[in-house]
Amino acid sequence: MYDIEIPSCWNCEHEFKLRELVWSWRMRCPSCKKKQFLTKESRFNTLLFSPILMIVIFIMNVWNFSWVIIIPVSFCLFLIFMFIIPYFYRFTDKEAPFV
Ligand SMILES: [Zn+2]
Repeated sequence: MYDIEIPSCWNCEHEFKLRELVWSWRMRCPSCKKKQFLTKESRFNTLLFSPILMIVIFIMNVWNFSWVIIIPVSFCLFLIFMFIIPYFYRFTDKEAPFV
């Protein structure tokens, strides 16, 4: 696992702001305008978060939680992930293949 630190541009070391990261996977550095691609490893790490969400929903389902609880809880979890996941992004100059 990586240390938790805000990702930076592969070219000029510009540190991205969280709001710059939350919205897009394919992005340009605001400072040097170079295109940023997620490394294979960081994409894999971000993919690990979706099963967690599904497991939580599954467990709540098994315990017979009502959907009135499950839906808001899942939504909150999803929002939290949206703000955690960018810390796992690492950028490179090459687009890595999907598998
Ligand atoms: Zn840059």
